Amino acid sequence: MQVIKTIKKMQATSLNLKRTRASIGFVPTMGALHEGHLSLIRRSRRENDVTVVSIFVNPIQFGPSEDLNRYPRPLQQDLRLCMQEKVEYVFCPRPEDMYPEGFKTFVEVRELGAVLCGASRPTHFRGVTTVVAKLFNAVFPDRAYFGQKDCQQAVIIERMARDLNFPVMIEVLPIIRERSGLALSSRNAYLDPAQKKDALVLSKALSSAAVLIRGGTRDAARIKRVIRTMVSAAHSVKIDYIAIVDKQTLKPVKKIQDSCLIALAMWIGKTRLIDNIVVNAQNRKAG
Ligand code: AMP
Repeated sequence: MQVIKTIKKMQATSLNLKRTRASIGFVPTMGALHEGHLSLIRRSRRENDVTVVSIFVNPIQFGPSEDLNRYPRPLQQDLRLCMQEKVEYVFCPRPEDMYPEGFKTFVEVRELGAVLCGASRPTHFRGVTTVVAKLFNAVFPDRAYFGQKDCQQAVIIERMARDLNFPVMIEVLPIIRERSGLALSSRNAYLDPAQKKDALVLSKALSSAAVLIRGGTRDAARIKRVIRTMVSAAHSVKIDYIAIVDKQTLKPVKKIQDSCLIALAMWIGKTRLIDNIVVNAQNRKAG
């Protein structure tokens, strides 16, 4: 496994790989790798000749009062995990290489980036799209892998890749959860045991909402009320948003037709957690 630290070296490596006609799979991450990240890496390994994992805590996607400084950075452990997964290249650019003096250009996906998480994190998604565009221009991937855990991010990246003609296939893979239902996240490390227990209300509320929809409930407001009641029972949880939206346009749905995306963001102490579920209303199977 090779660790690459500069954009120039990454570009040269990828261009060489392209000359040999090797297909490149790419998994962008902010490190603190867990089974969610590993699921993306494993899929990339299966589908491509070579896999590049990037580890970069992207400063421009954090707001001024967010957790950039305390975000976990266990680099040696991450490199060990990548080695175990037989990743060929790990790309760890330095912030000053990504954003040198005079950096002025941002990529913004309008509308999609302003709702849900974008409402409370107004510069977050332009930070994400800008870094992903820059990483695509360093790695030249054939396929790039993202998690449904960050459902809004996945929709926005798909839109960006189409709108800006990036010659890359975007693949979105399912959420990996703990046995308890809690969606894996690098930020779970911030939670103490009591908060972690409270955090289970996110996945529990989503499952209950799915049961209601599959059982015939179609009124989104009613489903949101049920979620709100469940979540409010956990004392340390503060609601950022509960949204029921179209899974492509992210526009609110009032009456659920065939399928919908239910997305939640909650504060538990100083930690903001997100989770979501796509529910197919036609599937009347309970549970
Ligand atoms: P991050 O390191 O948080 O920026 O995440 C890197 C990638 O891993 C993103 O595409 C995430 O959506 C994905 N990811 C994070 N957590 C999970 C999870 N629990 N299941 C599946 N994918 C995940």
